[in-house]
Amino acid sequence: MPELPEVETVRRSLKRLVGGKTIRDVDVFVPKMVRNLDVSKFRQHIENKTIIDISRIGKYLLFHLEDWILVSHLRMEGRYFIKHLDEAKDKHEHLIFYFTDGTTMRYHDTRKFGTFDLIKQENLSSFEPVQKMGPEPFDQEMTVDYLYPILKRKTIAIKSALLDQHIIAGLGNIYVNEVLFLCGLHPETPSHKCRKKDVKNIIKYSQEVLEEAIKRGGTTIRSYTSSLGVTGRFQQQLKVHTKEVCPTCESPIEKIKVGGRGTYYCKKCQKKRY
Ligand SMILES: [Zn+2]
Repeated sequence: MPELPEVETVRRSLKRLVGGKTIRDVDVFVPKMVRNLDVSKFRQHIENKTIIDISRIGKYLLFHLEDWILVSHLRMEGRYFIKHLDEAKDKHEHLIFYFTDGTTMRYHDTRKFGTFDLIKQENLSSFEPVQKMGPEPFDQEMTVDYLYPILKRKTIAIKSALLDQHIIAGLGNIYVNEVLFLCGLHPETPSHKCRKKDVKNIIKYSQEVLEEAIKRGGTTIRSYTSSLGVTGRFQQQLKVHTKEVCPTCESPIEKIKVGGRGTYYCKKCQKKRY
């Protein structure tokens, strides 16, 4: 599943490749992917609009189309490809945006879990997923004063708390495993057992891990490869996720499930607190 660094990498590539282009038309082959409008309205609002900017909130990509914003979530397998108009349609291409310059942007998704919402610019702040999303590690609001009291009220595993997008946005499974290793926190530590010092480390290492991953174009794991020819090189930097030996103490890395998610940690470096 693409995580924040992959989505950020896709955003930067798309901005470079399709920023400023004008959409002549759009074909929607899987209508259920467009969530908030019927397809005819969706097409009508998008036609002849120019992509002014592409931004990102958490794992949502935002295409700014003059007065409208197209919100795209890649979910498990979504990717974008830029192809010439004449290139044959792949069976996994479910939306095709035709630009006035003869190129196309194709949304490719083998699982069809990806979603599109088209909203008026002025309604962005009330768009539910965005409204409910907590700040990202890089945001100014992400401080010990913000995060510590929230964690103090929760008894769930710190791993699950950090995956909760309402608390902290954009930190997915791979990166939470890495952050907890760097903090020396056992993934099953109850959230309220985190001290202020731990919270400070969580913020610091979240920023560091994400920054490094973005710099390297994200992490390529299993079926996910970033579109547009970007290869994630962060995998080489992973310390515990999918690893067998701890890089610090050389103990074997443990693999467990926390909240149903594959969790890797070092028993020795990440001691459990009760
Ligand atoms: Zn270790």
